[in-house]
Amino acid sequence: MKRSISAKYVLIGFMVVALSLLLTANFGLYFEGQKIQQSVHDTAQIEAQKELFSAIDRNFKSIDQQLKKLTEWDEVHQQLNQSSYYYYWRDQRLKDSEYFKPYYIELDIYQADKLKLSHLVKDQQLAAEALPKHLNSQSRYFLIQPPHHDYLIVSHAVYSRQDPSQVIGHVAIAIDFFELLAQDNQFYYLDFPYLHFNRSGFIGMHQLKDALEYRAISNPVSDHLWNLIEGFVVKFALIILATTLIVFGFIKLIFLDPLQKLSLFVKGLRSQAHANQTEVQASFVLEEHQNLQKQLSEYHHALLDAQAQLSQQNQKLWQISRTDPLTEVGNRRAFDDAWHALLQQYGSQPTTIAYMLFDCDHFKALNDTYGHQVGDELIKISAQTLQRSFPAGQNIYRIGGDEFASLVVDKTVDEVEQIAQKALSDLISYPFVQLDIKEKVSFSVGVGYAGHNQAIENIEVLPRQADIAMYKAKHSPHNKVHFYQHGHDTSNQSLVSNKRLNQVLTAAYTGQNICLHYQPILNIKTQDIYYEALVRLQFEDETVFPSDIFTIIAHHRLEVELDQQILNYLLSQLQQKRLPANIGLSVNISAKTLLQPFIVDLFEPFLVYLKQHKIVIEITESILIEHIQDVSFVLNKLRRQGFLIALDDFGSGYSSIRYLANMPVDIVKFDMTLTHALNADLKTQRLIQSTAHMIREAGYELVMEGVETQQQLELATQAGATNIQGYYIGRPNFKPNPPGLVA
Ligand code: C2E
Ligand code: MG
Ligand code: MG
Repeated sequence: MKRSISAKYVLIGFMVVALSLLLTANFGLYFEGQKIQQSVHDTAQIEAQKELFSAIDRNFKSIDQQLKKLTEWDEVHQQLNQSSYYYYWRDQRLKDSEYFKPYYIELDIYQADKLKLSHLVKDQQLAAEALPKHLNSQSRYFLIQPPHHDYLIVSHAVYSRQDPSQVIGHVAIAIDFFELLAQDNQFYYLDFPYLHFNRSGFIGMHQLKDALEYRAISNPVSDHLWNLIEGFVVKFALIILATTLIVFGFIKLIFLDPLQKLSLFVKGLRSQAHANQTEVQASFVLEEHQNLQKQLSEYHHALLDAQAQLSQQNQKLWQISRTDPLTEVGNRRAFDDAWHALLQQYGSQPTTIAYMLFDCDHFKALNDTYGHQVGDELIKISAQTLQRSFPAGQNIYRIGGDEFASLVVDKTVDEVEQIAQKALSDLISYPFVQLDIKEKVSFSVGVGYAGHNQAIENIEVLPRQADIAMYKAKHSPHNKVHFYQHGHDTSNQSLVSNKRLNQVLTAAYTGQNICLHYQPILNIKTQDIYYEALVRLQFEDETVFPSDIFTIIAHHRLEVELDQQILNYLLSQLQQKRLPANIGLSVNISAKTLLQPFIVDLFEPFLVYLKQHKIVIEITESILIEHIQDVSFVLNKLRRQGFLIALDDFGSGYSSIRYLANMPVDIVKFDMTLTHALNADLKTQRLIQSTAHMIREAGYELVMEGVETQQQLELATQAGATNIQGYYIGRPNFKPNPPGLVA
């Protein structure tokens, strides 16, 4: 099976993917903004640097000019020649002159050997000085003494007026460098208050760039833009999250939950498949869901209706298979069912039982003399008269050509006698002259009776006792109602019955006297024939038929043994090449045998014959339905090996149609009661035809059994049978004779 995934997980997956994409896009925007911000900052930093260093250059030039001018001042030359009032000159004259700028901290003159002039004059209290005692080799440098003193020290040589190449001294100034910058410059990019040196002590000009710490003023536009981007990104992420949650909740509410409800609804329908009404519990938001649920509900009801119809159809078929079409009373199968039900019930509810048989005397002669139509009419009237004569609710069954039976419970011998006498007098007093029958029509009644609290063995013998009583009644011209009495056992019938028992048991145990008769099954379209093998016990003077064989076999539970003997017989026929090559064979297997674990082995010896012979295995439907699981496995195995499976007596069981689709069979055989009912009323005819149609539609071959007349052949063909079987095509014969050659 293909792996399926819950809609919930699909939705979650979709949401996660969508969310990831949106968030990736969002963070992409964030990083892009950050990059812009960085590039704006970098540009501003470069501008600030340019601004700073051009300001420094400008100021250096101006200071250089100032110093140059100073070196040319006469008074400086004079002080270098005669420095006796140097302090006075420096502190009064110089500081008041135009040469001393307000941002100078100190200005001093140095001798040619770079010694400070002020040091030559003794007894002078030296103030805290920014300029050193000796000038060093560099004409421009910084002296950083945190926290308060950051000086720029600049010196310039003073040249002799007579010989301009001769250095006669130096002038040097100490400047508050930052103050100078602040006064003379306007900064647009540089964050001036931040400007500082990152080290202390002596800093030469070549170190200036590295030693200065500076930064650009932050750009309000870019900062604002960045704040906007940042805010947007955060808000957008929150909105995406919130939207995802809302969409998820919405889809869950609108689609997922209703889908789950629908799924539960369908599950509910399945679990209550046999309920008549299914309540629509879930209410849906979407019209489509509501429609779907409505349609499912309607479909479910339609299924239930179809199922009910099929059950009805089964019921009707079951009814047909148990009704005699001529008299419309129950048939032999219905009577057997009633008898077995009574036997089962007897264990828990012991009661008196009368097993009653009614038979028309000399019916065969009457039938031959007056024709089948009169014979049929006579049977019909007999059934109706008997049914009317019997107490209400008491059923009459037609169990043979002119033989009727009834089971009367909970009545005394006298009461049973009264019932029988009344029925008999009603029968013989009927004016059969109306049918142009000139002879007096007489009937015989045989009764087997068991009183209260009998052992079950005494009940099981009632059919045979009723048979014997009937035999007595037939042979007694006056006493036409006969109750079985002990002592009858010594009669011929009983002897026959013991003889039969021995014959059947010997056959089951040893296989003696078993033989198979073959009845042709004709394919209507191709005219091909295959043969159903039907068991017989063959003795010199008589043949024993399945109705007798299987009563005894069932009683002694010897079905498996008998089937094994029959299969052995068929195998030996094949091995000895007693059967013509290439003929198809159909063999019956009892339900019990089919459930044996060795069933597949039982057919193993037949495998080699499958090349030459089509071999069909016939099973009855009840076993298939009761044990469909186990039996299906076995049957499918046999089918794979090449055997064909036929479902025998279809329509005689209860629930066959319902299981039809799952039955592991190739051929369906309609019970002969269905074939015969094709003559009955139009409704019955239609029902059988529609069932036949369904079976053909499902792909099975359809055999109709019990075709006895040309009319039945036509009806069976019309109904859709692919094959037919019956006396009209050919009777069972000890040799598989093609139709037409059968006697
Ligand atoms: P079945 O398998 O449904 O066989 C068809 C029965 O209908 C046969 O009765 C056959 O003689 C009879 N039949 C065929 N055509 C007509 C017809 O046109 N009119 C009438 N009235 N009857 C017809 P048979 O041979 O007495 O067998 C009766 C049942 O005994 C079979 O019914 C089958 O269930 C069982 N049976 C027969 N042979 C074997 C066997 O070898 N093994 C097992 N396990 N069961 C067998
Ligand atoms: Mg059969
Ligand atoms: Mg059959």
